[in-house]
Amino acid sequence: MVPFSALNALEYCPRRFYYEYVQAEMLVNALVLEGQLLHQRVDQPAVFAEKGVERIHRLYLASERLHIAGYLDALEEEAGKLVPVEYKRGREGHWLNDHIQLCAQALCLEEYLPHLAPLSHGYLFYFGSRRREQVLFLPELRQKTLESIQLALALAREPRPPAPLQGKTARRCRDCSLLPICLPEEVRALQEQQERGNATKSLLEIF
Ligand code: SF4
Repeated sequence: MVPFSALNALEYCPRRFYYEYVQAEMLVNALVLEGQLLHQRVDQPAVFAEKGVERIHRLYLASERLHIAGYLDALEEEAGKLVPVEYKRGREGHWLNDHIQLCAQALCLEEYLPHLAPLSHGYLFYFGSRRREQVLFLPELRQKTLESIQLALALAREPRPPAPLQGKTARRCRDCSLLPICLPEEVRALQEQQERGNATKSLLEIF
């Protein structure tokens, strides 16, 4: 089963996905720790009602058909409509990785409760701005989420992690907690050496 959070990691960086969910390598940097501390309250199981909205915190979902599983931070019910909610560190920014995670949770809910499908939208709450971003479960996002699940399952069968991020996306490495394990700059340098024909192939196989 692919955890929901692994789909988030995969969209951020396939190599990060591989380290965390295939090799079980986890490192905590300041950003990860901040997220864990902010999450402490919403990670407490609870059920309550407020202003006509019922909310369940920390709900386990799984789909054997889709091979995905994990916890949803909150499920809200208002006037018979179900709305999944995920809490995130930082500020809203239309982050596709967060949208995919939320959509995967919606797909699970629809499988449990087909009479309430399709769910129209969910929310991402960002602690940094204390604002909610509405995410519509449009066909494009649903398709992208299904493709991410297939990619995750395919990568999990690979014997080695994918190459480090290249180009513009390599800026993400700066904030990545796995930087000391991944060594992206060193691996890129070895790859360049190999392309020039004087690389140490065995070293690249290690990384
Ligand atoms: S350091 Fe960069 S390439 Fe390596 S896992 Fe993190 S984001 Fe991916």
